[in-house]
Amino acid sequence: MRFLLSAPLLAAAALALPFSAPRALVPREHPSLEGTHTLPFVTPNTEAAHTFAPMDHEPTAILVTCMDGRILPEEAFGIKAGTVNVLRNAGGRVAGAIPSILVSQVALGSHEIIVVHHTDCGMHKYTDAGIHEALESHYGNDTARPYTDSIAFNTFTSLNHSLHDDIRLLRDHPLINSTQVSGWAYNVTDGLLQRYV
Ligand SMILES: [Zn+2]
Repeated sequence: MRFLLSAPLLAAAALALPFSAPRALVPREHPSLEGTHTLPFVTPNTEAAHTFAPMDHEPTAILVTCMDGRILPEEAFGIKAGTVNVLRNAGGRVAGAIPSILVSQVALGSHEIIVVHHTDCGMHKYTDAGIHEALESHYGNDTARPYTDSIAFNTFTSLNHSLHDDIRLLRDHPLINSTQVSGWAYNVTDGLLQRYV
């Protein structure tokens, strides 16, 4: 069951989104390696390449989790390189990961699906209606709606609901091998996992 925010809260949620002064989402030019970047990734990459060794890619599991930068899956969950397909989106929702799950299972043979949502998730703070409203407010209805009308942002009201909904989606999907699925919550305060499903 979904709970809708009242109109004032909905407006507050829309205002809280960082859409009032959006940055360009797509670079207009291909930046050179020497250009200015948000991330200091070139030097760390060069240093890492000194000790780099090619690895096998033999995934046995799929991890679906949120794009939140506080979650470092390889560190937090002890993932060995090459063994897990990590799929990330806002909220870590399964609905947004279905195409990649199908590819992972059919083409790569992974057979377990682990869903990890987390405390203090932004997709728990907003509503789909609030995000639609913010986009339409900024870009105008005529520009935004042809794109946003078909998008479900999959915001959620509680970790219990989001995890149970996503595990049910996996189990009910006719094309997904769902013999091994589980749903977990990751606490961004203490770094601990708790199994919900
Ligand atoms: Zn999140």
